Amino acid sequence: MDRPNETKANEFAAMRLCVRLPAVVENYRTAKRMAGPAAVAGVVKADAYGLGMRPVARALASAGCDSFFVARLEEGIALRLVSPEARIFVLDGAPAETVPALIANQLTPVLNSLPEIAGWSAAARTMRTELDAAVHIDTGMNRLGLPSGELALLSAEHKHRLAGVRVVLWMSHLACSDDPASKMNRRQLDRFRTALAMLPPAPAALSASGGLMLGKDYHFDLVRPGIALYGGHPLNVGPNPFKTAVVCTARIMQTRTIAAGETVGYGATFTAGRTTKIATAGLGYADGLFRSVSNAGCGAVGGTRIPVAGRVSMDLASFDVTDLTPPPATGMEIELFGDTIALEEIAKAAGTIGYEILTSLSRRAKRTYEENP
Ligand SMILES: *Cc1c(COP(=O)(O)O)cnc(C)c1O
Repeated sequence: MDRPNETKANEFAAMRLCVRLPAVVENYRTAKRMAGPAAVAGVVKADAYGLGMRPVARALASAGCDSFFVARLEEGIALRLVSPEARIFVLDGAPAETVPALIANQLTPVLNSLPEIAGWSAAARTMRTELDAAVHIDTGMNRLGLPSGELALLSAEHKHRLAGVRVVLWMSHLACSDDPASKMNRRQLDRFRTALAMLPPAPAALSASGGLMLGKDYHFDLVRPGIALYGGHPLNVGPNPFKTAVVCTARIMQTRTIAAGETVGYGATFTAGRTTKIATAGLGYADGLFRSVSNAGCGAVGGTRIPVAGRVSMDLASFDVTDLTPPPATGMEIELFGDTIALEEIAKAAGTIGYEILTSLSRRAKRTYEENP
């Protein structure tokens, strides 16, 4: 997977991100099992949540995934280069200036408004052809998609307004699908069903990873998980059925034993209450380790948690390894998240969500890809 010069650099990398492509594939299969008979598309926006769009898309395609969602036009163009056959939905839609590039790259826009539908329809009629599109109906996010007034107009005048547009997907997006107890889920489901009844028949999609977990009612014809494929827990309750697909580790660069009363790092925010062993690893906020895990988060060695000691700095983070047996040595790897520490655990310590942890990992964090065993 790595180009030769990268492989060499990886040998020296202080921090690395191991992406388990077989786990991504297994998570895709799990999603398919849960969604069946609905289809499952792979959401690979934001460089597949920071994992690397190309290897992830390739792995998903090998498991039979033939539809992908990206956010930006640029992401769609990049994915088209590696996936000549796939259906690629672009969530950003079809603002006028992007229409030629969408068409040239055979991308399927998720049209978000009547003006976008009009622009896409005009392009199709000019070309004397039909152009595929998804249409996003807003059922309560109040972010993107046709608001109820535009939905009513589209319903009343769909023949005219959709001239030249082949709708391949009516879609909407849930606001609270991480919380199965939220009343918003049922409310949006009802609104989506009402919208579908007003529109010409076409496949429909409501759910991302969270909705996938909410049961058959939420699956319609296509489900579009992202975080679940990457091993995140889609819900705020219950066990996570998806496998760890990303392991983030950093090497210990130096260890030292400090006396009680000594402090660690910038601001001297950690004070040793006893004779303390400190291990410092080569990762910091410039790699994507949130500074907010200072004195809050944990790393892990061999399944044992070791607390972050002091502030995370740009390139380094220190850990209290006093209780670790055997004591860690220079060159050993500390896990930041992966098999011991769930993405959600580090996210909680950082005051954020797993999505932001993954997408914040910088380019300096070296990605390695585990292929099929
Ligand atoms: C990001 C996104 C998804 C995927 O969401 P996950 O929670 O990661 O599964 C699906 N649909 C839309 C519209 C999105 O923006």
